[in-house]
Amino acid sequence: MRKTYLDNNATTPLHPEVKEAIAKSLDLFGNASSAHFFGQEARKAVDDARKKVAALINAKPGEIIFTSCGSESNNLVIKGATCQDVYCKPEESRPGKHIITSQIEHPSVINPIKSLERQGFKVTWLPVDKYGLVDPALMEKAITKQTVLISIMTANNEIGTIEPIAELAQIARKHEVYFHTDAVQAVGKLDIDVKEMSVDFLSLSGHKLYAPKGVAATYIREGISVCPLLQGGHQERGLRGGTENTLGIIALGKACEVAMRDRQENVERIWKLREKLRIGILEKISEVIINGHPEKVLPTTLSVIFRYIEGESILLRLSAEGIAVSTGSACASGTLEPSHVLLAIGLPHELAHGTIRFSFGIENTGEDIDYTLEVLPGIIRQLREMSPLWPGNIK
Ligand code: PLP
Repeated sequence: MRKTYLDNNATTPLHPEVKEAIAKSLDLFGNASSAHFFGQEARKAVDDARKKVAALINAKPGEIIFTSCGSESNNLVIKGATCQDVYCKPEESRPGKHIITSQIEHPSVINPIKSLERQGFKVTWLPVDKYGLVDPALMEKAITKQTVLISIMTANNEIGTIEPIAELAQIARKHEVYFHTDAVQAVGKLDIDVKEMSVDFLSLSGHKLYAPKGVAATYIREGISVCPLLQGGHQERGLRGGTENTLGIIALGKACEVAMRDRQENVERIWKLREKLRIGILEKISEVIINGHPEKVLPTTLSVIFRYIEGESILLRLSAEGIAVSTGSACASGTLEPSHVLLAIGLPHELAHGTIRFSFGIENTGEDIDYTLEVLPGIIRQLREMSPLWPGNIK
């Protein structure tokens, strides 16, 4: 059976050059903290990778902290920047207890913030418009003397909408409030420059940019002190205890190097594939709605509502034909609750349930789109013929 992978927002395959870099390093077993030759070899590999990750987002190598996943990077910033522990935050520099975020963040931002809310923090959950955009004026209005952190994602994993991060972060800086952006879906796809964007913290994750699972990074602007999430040894400037995942870090470094070299070319090609599928769906299938902003959107993401039927049924039928897609965020699937993102952009439950996310990557070709456009209309027609909601079936 032909296999077509259109779920790159959930995770990406390893890039061939990343695979090669891992294979070459399999014997590099030294502990990067050891002073001897074996350790120094591992240290050099970690330092080289740190430079490559930093270069991709225009940070300094010393501003990059390696972590295990995007979720950890988000937790490190949210808990670390708001931490009230007098050991790492002396009384006079204890942060305020108000956080601002949006209603469409990833669960790895929402849940640590909800946990802080239960511990007494005040939280402003900013609404978004029908495209998923945060309003900078609303955000500015929400800032108080107590605001310690604002966290707004760079691009949404479900609908692809790109937030005006530079504008939002500049407002935060004007008010001397720290600004974090979860750029897990954006790094390697958009031109990310932490200095130009004026962000204080940024999260990225290896497995969304053709490196393996189990490695990620947090950008923490020079001079900002946060409390560690994982306390232990002195690794990662004391901000993340635990012997470094040398192989994963080497892989992430290589993935960032490749992204820096190939990003522009890949993005242009992938955008054409996205547009080919979008236009094809609109031409061949009636009663569809495209979610997300028409232009400020990730080239890799196409979120589509097929009215009157369930996304789960479409996903399973496509999977049986060798096409892998998603019904919402990977983390949200497995529950029957409609996605919080789709509800936040104002969709009623029945439309949210009929949503499919196609997400593209460097391995996709025009044939993948042709095949999808060959198979999809028939599946939608058959499911609608069985649906009691389809107007044609209402007697
Ligand atoms: N943030 C966003 C926007 C994501 O899409 C994801 C993963 O889907 C994460 C964070 C979490 O990343 P990880 O899977 O590396 O923990």
